[in-house]
Amino acid sequence: MRGMREPLLNTSPSPGDEFKTTTCYMCACRCGIKVWLADGKIRYIQGNPEHPVNKGVLCAKGSAGIMQHYSPARLRKPLLRVGGRGSGEFREIEWDEALQLATDWLAPIRARNPDELAFFTGRDQSQALTGWWAQQFGTINYAAHGGFCSVNMAAAGLYTLGGSFWEFGEPDWDHTQYLMLWGVAEDHDSNPIKLGLGKLKARGAKIVAVNPVRTGYGAIADEWIGIRPGTDGLFAFALIHELLRSDRIDLEYLVRYANAHWLVLRNPGGADDGLFARDDDGNPLCWDRNGNRAVDANAVDVSPAVVGEVTLDDGRTAVPAFELVAERYLDPQYAPDAVSARCGIPADTIRRIARELAAAAFDSKFSLPIAWTDSWGREHDEMTGRPVAMHAMRGISAHSNGFHTCRALHLLQLLLGAVDTPGSFRYQPPYPKPIPPGNRPGKARKADGTLDAGPLGFVHGPEDLLVDADGHPRRIDHAFSWGYPLAAHGMLQAVIRNAHAGNPTKIDTLLMFMANMSWNSAMNTRQTMQWLTDKDADGNYRIPRIIYSDAYASEMVAYADLVLPDTTYLERFDAISLLDRPISDADGVADAIRHPLFDPATQAERDGSVRDVRGFQSVLLDLGARLGLPGMVHADGSPKYRDYADYIVRHERAPGVGLLAGWRGEDGTQHGKGAPNPAQLDTYIANNGYWREELPEHARYYKMANRGYLEWAQRFGFVADAKPIVLQLYSETLQKFRLAAQGHGAVQPPPEHRERVATYFDPLPIWYEPFEGVQVDGAAFPLSAITQRPMFMYHAWGSQNAWLRQIATRNYLYLHPQTGAHYGIADEDWIEVASHHGGIRVQAKFAANVQPDTVWSWNAIGKRKRAWTLSKDAPESNQGFLLNHLISDITPRGDYANADPVTGQAAWFDLRVSIRKVAAGTLDAGGESEPQFPPLAYAEADEAPLRYGARMRNRQHVSKAKE
Ligand code: SF4
Repeated sequence: MRGMREPLLNTSPSPGDEFKTTTCYMCACRCGIKVWLADGKIRYIQGNPEHPVNKGVLCAKGSAGIMQHYSPARLRKPLLRVGGRGSGEFREIEWDEALQLATDWLAPIRARNPDELAFFTGRDQSQALTGWWAQQFGTINYAAHGGFCSVNMAAAGLYTLGGSFWEFGEPDWDHTQYLMLWGVAEDHDSNPIKLGLGKLKARGAKIVAVNPVRTGYGAIADEWIGIRPGTDGLFAFALIHELLRSDRIDLEYLVRYANAHWLVLRNPGGADDGLFARDDDGNPLCWDRNGNRAVDANAVDVSPAVVGEVTLDDGRTAVPAFELVAERYLDPQYAPDAVSARCGIPADTIRRIARELAAAAFDSKFSLPIAWTDSWGREHDEMTGRPVAMHAMRGISAHSNGFHTCRALHLLQLLLGAVDTPGSFRYQPPYPKPIPPGNRPGKARKADGTLDAGPLGFVHGPEDLLVDADGHPRRIDHAFSWGYPLAAHGMLQAVIRNAHAGNPTKIDTLLMFMANMSWNSAMNTRQTMQWLTDKDADGNYRIPRIIYSDAYASEMVAYADLVLPDTTYLERFDAISLLDRPISDADGVADAIRHPLFDPATQAERDGSVRDVRGFQSVLLDLGARLGLPGMVHADGSPKYRDYADYIVRHERAPGVGLLAGWRGEDGTQHGKGAPNPAQLDTYIANNGYWREELPEHARYYKMANRGYLEWAQRFGFVADAKPIVLQLYSETLQKFRLAAQGHGAVQPPPEHRERVATYFDPLPIWYEPFEGVQVDGAAFPLSAITQRPMFMYHAWGSQNAWLRQIATRNYLYLHPQTGAHYGIADEDWIEVASHHGGIRVQAKFAANVQPDTVWSWNAIGKRKRAWTLSKDAPESNQGFLLNHLISDITPRGDYANADPVTGQAAWFDLRVSIRKVAAGTLDAGGESEPQFPPLAYAEADEAPLRYGARMRNRQHVSKAKE
């Protein structure tokens, strides 16, 4: 209207007074973020466009970091238990008292027997510190959460390719034409995968999702293959069968970069059966067709045979490894028609996928015009492409056949020549590593009480196991024992049962960090809670002491005797280290930090809240100094490190090698190796919180045998020398265990483990029914049940976050409408779900995005009443539920952990269930999920922080009024 002034609208107001850049920790992806502050409080979080991981992309979880930081569930002070264990009754104490108590508990253990400390961490990102700390303490009983996450993926990759899927490798997003996602929900490497899928979609490349449930990335796939859980290996074998049958494989690649031509001794019953034939220097041999004799398999001027039996000079017979591959997978049992019914995939689909894979790999004649030199000095003027990529995750891993399934996928990749070739799966530095990696698990204590190596590592043969003279486990989780020899990440899921039972020996103190082991991180949840609270005949807790550190009032806090409150991820220093899980990509090596955006004490003052919390990593170093642990104190006993930030800068794992690789050397000009640089953290902060060095162009592919890459990697200490890393489609390491089980060698399994080891340590990938499927009555439990990770939440943290709770506050059990009809269940009916282990009552919801023999739910939304200080009426605890209550931690037969027999990976996804509608009249309107447990007696949360946004609005109004 004339005469009226147009309102002054600022369409792009600044979100705050200033921003600081750091690294997100709302999931494992480690994106760069810009955190805007207003009046010293967080106002807004956005993706950092200058960060190499996410290039500005932010997800729902990342932006909700505000609510994570101001969560009412944050712990405020150290807590000492005053009620019974599990009640959640504590009194607040000062840090001095807390640290003195912890020291008083731990010092006698270290003096007596360090193994009486079991130190296990959850999804933390500081294993380079925690593993080292455990080593300095001298305990073999240390691990992080990998045993119940995806160790099958890591171990199968590292024992086959020297690298793995997960966040240690990536599809060649710029060149692949065909991507198969196996068992991948929205998970690790989240934003890079989204960015990558966007590129594929823009280019018209095909994406195939293999998963019983179509969620997350699978939702935008061009083709969804709704496979039955646990049968992926069988599907992969059928694809391999088709490729072999139609001779659509890359033999040149297999001979050049893998061990297809290495001669395998055939001597049934002999101590050398199945081992590689080697010369006097230990070099593997192949059969040279030109010279008609056995020669060094790594020589370049030979024409190696890949089939046919040969007789060696010493009279022994041998065949090339490829002959064994062909023999096994051409067998009719792996034909598409033979596996179709079990996998739930039409045979024609399997044949078509095999044809499409071969066409994408071989028919495009794609190559990059990049000159490079291989490990043998041969010059190449281009890099031959194989634009077929695979990516796999927990759906493959969390089965008792997951190790071999993952090996099967790697075999499929190798046959297509699709490992680190343009267009295929690519290693991210520091991978590839030698196969297996050189670091073996520590076994013995040195004179100063430290362990002779880090507690986790890679066994190369039976002699590396942690077993006693009778072959029984030495570790509390039984990792690296005959039951689970290649348990490279430990078996966190087995600790509480074994600690309660004193098997193999009693422990004194269980120290845990960020591991919600009385709830969503435990199988057999109800009994786990009992084990944590169980007392012996003298009235003492059977697990004598539990120290727990977390930032939030999770379910596990209630079971601690002493609680050490951690900071949020925006209040402390962290190193995302090359010694742990870096943020590298296939074209460059990178690491990163987090740093305090504000001082918690000042924040508390501003908020009026009382929080006296410390970063767990600094607390650990403080404790180490109080205990006088080697490496953490000077000769006079004074602390060597002020805090974790000081450790990040000054600690050297080897001369010149520290937690961060960037800006080393006294003047900050060295990268990779160099003396500590006092200004290192400041430089990281000024560089958006990360350091990255780009690989030379000629070093970006064929990393396992690219002289340029290997020499570059040697400079960083990723490999000891520039020798080629030969990919192991046939694994001699596995065969060594099998030979031991057959009665050969100095270290052999006890009789009760022999058949198991002989069966599952097959040097070529095998497929077998998941244990639960075999050991329960299939008619009684006809359905598979699995969980999926939601896009918008990560573990239990996300489902207490005020913003993310607006997306979902509860979960359902999702089933296909046909399945509902079959069992007389209507949409949103309450149903009873039973397994061989237990029963739950939940609400069903129809979803057509699931294979009809499978039911599923979101992971970790269900909460115990009052946990995370949620209201007692919170839907998470009243209607939400955990599938975990149905999952046993041991096999139905009770003979082993419910785990993969090679690696000890928890077999969460082997679960078999029955469903039926709850009888009419047994539920109140509205219903409540079962089981329910007594509410935790956590202090009422002050929800004021969640309303701070209103104050921000006020601030804007005030500013406008001033204008
Ligand atoms: S993907 Fe993960 S790390 Fe990245 S922004 Fe989202 S929550 Fe943060």
